[in-house]
Amino acid sequence: MRGVGAALAERLRRLGVEQVQDLLFVLPQRYEDRTRIAAIGSLVPGTRASVEGEVQLTEVAFRGRRQLLSRISDGSGFLTLRFFHFSAAQQSGLARGTRLRCFGEVRRGPFGPEIIHPEYRRVLGSDALEETLTPVYPATEGLTQGRLRALIGQALDPLETAGDRQGSGIVDWVPPELLSTLELPALGEALRYVHRPPRSAHLDELARGRHPAQRRLAFEELLAHHLCLKLLKRSVQSDEAWPLGDPASLAARLLESLPFALTAAQRRAFREVHTDLRQNRPMVRLLQGDVGCGKTVVAAAAVALAVGSGCQAALMAPTELLAEQHWRSLCDWFQPLGIPVARISGSVPARTRRSALATIASGEVPIAVGTHALFQEGISFDRLALIIVDEQHRFGVQQRLKLQEKGLREGRFPHQLIMTATPIPRTLAMTAYADLDISVIDELPPGRTPVQTVVMPEQRRQQVVQRILGACRSGAQAYWVCPLIDESEELRYQAVEETAAALAEALPDVRVGLVHGRQPPAEKERAMAAFKSGKTQLLVATTVIEVGVDVPNATLMVIENAEHLGLAQLHQLRGRVGRGSDVSTCVLLYRAPLSALARERLKAIRETADGFEIARRDLTLRGPGELLGTRQTGLAQLRVADLMRDADLLPRVQAAADRMLESHPERIGPLAARWIGTGERYGRVG
Ligand code: ADP
Ligand code: MG
Repeated sequence: MRGVGAALAERLRRLGVEQVQDLLFVLPQRYEDRTRIAAIGSLVPGTRASVEGEVQLTEVAFRGRRQLLSRISDGSGFLTLRFFHFSAAQQSGLARGTRLRCFGEVRRGPFGPEIIHPEYRRVLGSDALEETLTPVYPATEGLTQGRLRALIGQALDPLETAGDRQGSGIVDWVPPELLSTLELPALGEALRYVHRPPRSAHLDELARGRHPAQRRLAFEELLAHHLCLKLLKRSVQSDEAWPLGDPASLAARLLESLPFALTAAQRRAFREVHTDLRQNRPMVRLLQGDVGCGKTVVAAAAVALAVGSGCQAALMAPTELLAEQHWRSLCDWFQPLGIPVARISGSVPARTRRSALATIASGEVPIAVGTHALFQEGISFDRLALIIVDEQHRFGVQQRLKLQEKGLREGRFPHQLIMTATPIPRTLAMTAYADLDISVIDELPPGRTPVQTVVMPEQRRQQVVQRILGACRSGAQAYWVCPLIDESEELRYQAVEETAAALAEALPDVRVGLVHGRQPPAEKERAMAAFKSGKTQLLVATTVIEVGVDVPNATLMVIENAEHLGLAQLHQLRGRVGRGSDVSTCVLLYRAPLSALARERLKAIRETADGFEIARRDLTLRGPGELLGTRQTGLAQLRVADLMRDADLLPRVQAAADRMLESHPERIGPLAARWIGTGERYGRVG
């Protein structure tokens, strides 16, 4: 392509773009209406707008931190542009008298309306306005929106001229007879629409992902995934695995030695796992159960079956902290039985790590615990028969395939057990996890006191702060969660840091910690570890604390801006408290006015603690794309589709998949390659 050199090609590769055609499948995350210019005097804070004006003054100021301020005017009013990161060239490009067109979110600033880090360009002479809505693509470092739009535009042009038939370079792999029954547009038409929606398009419908063009793409993506998973299942069923009969009866001994009895649901799940593991076909099973239901001990019993059969097992967690937590649990349970457990960690000295790796490679140590990342690196086993993957939303089919191949030995594949606390309704599970058998733990261990959930307006913040003081004085710990709701990356993290500082000031006797996604991993781990050990009493955090962390002493959680979060996410967060025997409370702070939908959601989360019930309500309450984290459902990494939102497409996806397997197997490979990438294994089965 014109103007694409090696460096740019590399950046594009990070977006999954290898060929020109792939550019068409980099899809907008949202749209902006830049087809009209607003008068500066009429700007409303909190909305996004494009304006045009002349620079009056540009200066570098120090207000807490160094920043560039540029004031523009169009005769109807003044607007301040504020930059925290800027170059000398940028500064001189904003000289007095320059005409600019800017776009961004208008905020109330100290000198009237302002836009922080606007998108802008100089206008020379008469500059036509945009004719179509402006797509906003997923960000990748070193690739601006402007550049990406231009490249995708280049890829689109042949489509515009050639239409759907010839020379467009894009083949519709969905068989025509299926398409006609779907009442959805052809592929080329759908792509043109999503990249260049006309100005008459409904931004609202697009934001909700309900436009037929988007539905068409979602359908195709779901179809591609579903087909891959079905083929994967077929292929796994023809592989061989070690049958784990556990002649040493290690699992029984482990369960007897526990200080508690398994719940009925845990026993059932373990029985299902046990039945699978005795076969000489690999198990690929999902263990689904709400936070705190006790998945780990079921996993440990599965590990015991492997070890009792003279084989090895690996347990992987998404973070170092969780890996350590699991390692401790497994040590507690296995060491009394004389079985060592190795921890593969990035945070232990290199020598310790090397010797751990050596004992695993030789088979001397039968159990290894570590992060997903560590297992991708140079680890080898003597006889790995079972892989357990914990709480990894982003652990897709691709990653599973890789791992499975890693354990391959003497023609035998390891069994896999995947644990997730994301409850999803059965119909979705059948598509999202078409390659997995599913076990469900739908019961909590006895003796838990349910978390009390209260919903409060933001104005009562002071009262909540006092409550934290009370909790900490009595020796308990608390979380304060700040979801990242600002558009600008810069402001988001600033908000969390400011909240932490303000709380530290308001609560001088409380030791306050901070954890957010932008800290280096080591710092994040330190902050989490300090909270876990009780060194800090109040942990201010973004939603990064969502996954699996177990601090039974934490009995209070405050979630700010709760109205912005989806039900599933609220539920996951709340699951961090109520892990000990004391009564726990979750305070949901919201900013009025609440939309009807947000009100319903907060009501639902207050009324029920059952993850599956929450998932069902989530499905019925699903509204406009205002939710954060709606894409986190399930294991699939989807680009356009959203399992919840597009749930109504699923029966048709399943029917279409059966049809293609039967009548058009040759179309499956290219369809899968388009949406999922060229997994070698799909080639083998497709
Ligand atoms: P999750 O399913 O969220 O991963 P965990 O496995 O971390 O839950 O278990 C949560 C806590 O419950 C742990 O402290 C665990 O030891 C405890 N636990 C698990 N099963 C039982 C049981 N049957 N009876 C009592 N406590 C249990
Ligand atoms: Mg867990």
